[in-house]
Amino acid sequence: MAELLKGMEVANGMKQRLIDKNNELIAKGVVPCLAIVRVGGRPDDLAYERGALKRFEGLGIRVKVAEIPESATQEAFEREFSEINGDPSVHGILLFRPLPKSLDEEPVKKLIDPEKDVDCMCAANIAKVFMGDDSGYAPCTPQAVVELLKHYEIPLAGAQIALIGRSMVVGKPLAMLLLKENATVTLCHSKTVNLPEVCQRADIVVAAAGSAKMVTKDFVRPGAVVIDVGINDDGAGGICGDVAFDEAEAACGAITPVPGGVGSVTTSVLAMNTLKAAERALLRPGGRPEG
Ligand code: NDP
Repeated sequence: MAELLKGMEVANGMKQRLIDKNNELIAKGVVPCLAIVRVGGRPDDLAYERGALKRFEGLGIRVKVAEIPESATQEAFEREFSEINGDPSVHGILLFRPLPKSLDEEPVKKLIDPEKDVDCMCAANIAKVFMGDDSGYAPCTPQAVVELLKHYEIPLAGAQIALIGRSMVVGKPLAMLLLKENATVTLCHSKTVNLPEVCQRADIVVAAAGSAKMVTKDFVRPGAVVIDVGINDDGAGGICGDVAFDEAEAACGAITPVPGGVGSVTTSVLAMNTLKAAERALLRPGGRPEG
């Protein structure tokens, strides 16, 4: 039976470090604060928001939620976003995307202060991920995969990793983060020929395709590690991953569940990035409060 790689265990492992860092910053006069910007009330945004609020509350980190009506004009949306962006008490900003069709997210990608861009939406932070420069912020989900692999002490240096999905949200940045850990990454996509065979050669298979249960037992060799990033509607009111869990579990060495895997780590990474942003604010000229 495969080892179950539970996200909550990783989040719990990160918890005390995050609490200590938050307290350290508060003692220095900075109260770390994340602003969540939500347009409308999409159920998946609300679910993520509830999870983030709970996680941040458990860590004692402040969160402000800005709810912008779905009917907002582009101008009103950008004005409100700019206000949050300019608020010195806010250190990190998470904007739920995609935005409603009536709004364009491109202008805010240019507008957001790179120092507050804790989920890596602006070009400057994306470039840093690709350059292997960790002075910016890696996107939360790809970083959560790395945190999970490290927590379970799964060797990355020299490992053959087949990564399914090449989006800018998950696949490409994750490939760069894994490369930085000295893994050999094969980035697969919908045009990859003989995908099961490519995956079968890998020590680690990461599925980030958004295609329910597409990774079957034929994709994994005995002992392989399977990381499922996918979140899909299971057609029965619940969610499922990109991996056909039961058959993959029987064939592999270790596997993440969905729910309860990678998704449970992302809000801890968001907290980690928020604290990093607050610390960087403190180090900037004029960032240290008087007294
Ligand atoms: P996208 O739809 O943007 O990208 C999917 C990628 O997978 C594309 O590169 C696509 O290839 C590839 N792909 C799709 N189907 C197949 C297939 N059958 N075989 C091989 N490759 C395939 O999705 P995202 O990257 O945004 O998200 C991926 C998954 O991760 C989704 O399920 C999403 O819900 C989930 N997710 C989970 C998060 C979490 O916190 N756990 C956060 C963010 C996303 P091509 O480029 O050729 O089209």
